[in-house]
Amino acid sequence: MAQVELHIELLDFSQNALSIIYAACRQCYSASFAGQIFAEGLKDLVKQEEFVRQVVSSGHKSPLEHVKFTFAIEGVSRALTHQLVRHRIASYSQQSQRYVKESDFDYIIPPSIEADEEMKKEYVNTMREIQKSYNCLLKAFENKGKKGESANQDARFVLPQASETKIVVTMNCRELEHFFQERCCARAQWEIRRLAEEMLKICKQKLPAVFNNSGAKCVAFGYCPEGVKFTCKKYPLKK
Ligand SMILES: Cc1cc2nc3c(=O)[nH]c(=O)nc-3n(C[C@H](O)[C@H](O)[C@H](O)COP(=O)(O)OP(=O)(O)OC[C@H]3O[C@@H](n4cnc5c(N)ncnc54)[C@H](O)[C@@H]3O)c2cc1C
Repeated sequence: MAQVELHIELLDFSQNALSIIYAACRQCYSASFAGQIFAEGLKDLVKQEEFVRQVVSSGHKSPLEHVKFTFAIEGVSRALTHQLVRHRIASYSQQSQRYVKESDFDYIIPPSIEADEEMKKEYVNTMREIQKSYNCLLKAFENKGKKGESANQDARFVLPQASETKIVVTMNCRELEHFFQERCCARAQWEIRRLAEEMLKICKQKLPAVFNNSGAKCVAFGYCPEGVKFTCKKYPLKK
C-alpha cells in the first residue's frame, strides 16, 4: 500500500469537434443541410472558431452537447468519486471493489494532513490498521469457503474514503462547462477542484473556442453568487 497522486489522461474527444458544433449552430438558422454545412465548414476553421466563440458567449449552449470528452482518471479517492458521480449528465465506469481485491490498497493523503508530521503518522497508521482488518476478514471468508467477489464485497465495508480508485468519465461540452462552474469554484472541496482544474486545462488546450472563458461560475457571471459567508472575494458579490 502506498500514497498516490492524481493522474489524468484524455482518452479521446469527438473528431472534428469544432466543425460539429459549427454545423449544429448553423443548422438552427440555415435552409441548408447540416451535412453540407459541416463539409464546407471544414475548409475554414478560423471562421468556425470565431463563429463558435460568439455563439457560446451568447449563451446558445445546446450545440455543445454534440461533442464529448472521455477522461481516464486514477490516483483519486473514493471521497472524490462520490462527489463526481453526482454530476448526472455524464457516463462513468469505475474500478469495482467487488471484482478487484484491495489486499494492497493505495490511498490519498489530504495536503492538510500531509503537512503535519504527527497527523500524517496517525493517518498512515490508520491505513495500515484498516488494511490488516480487511485482509483478516478476507482470510476469515476464505476459511468459510468464500472467495472472490462474494468475499470482497463484504470485506470492503471497512475500507476508507481515502482508498484510491480509477474511473473513466465521459461528458459532453455543455456538462463539462457546468462541471467546471461548480467544481473550479473555491467553495468546492480541494480534491475535486484540483481534478476539475486539470480537466479544464486539457479542454482549453483541445477546444479553446468553447472553453477559453470557462471556469468557476464567477468567471462566466462576472460576480460571485455564493454570498458573503462563502465568497473567496475574487469577484464582487451579486448585488
Ligand atoms: C460546493 C459544493 C457543495 C456541495 N455540497 C453538497 C452537500 O452538502 N450535499 C449534497 O447532497 N450535495 C452537495 N453538492 C452536490 C450538488 O448538490 C450537486 O448534486 C452536484 O454539484 C451536481 O450538480 P448538478 O445537479 O447541477 O449537476 P448535473 O447532475 O451534472 O446536472 C446538470 C444540470 O442538469 C439539470 N438536471 C440534471 N438532472 C436533473 C433533474 N433530475 N431534474 C431537473 N434538472 C436536472 C440541472 O440544471 C443541473 O444543474 C455540493 C456541490 C458543490 C459544488
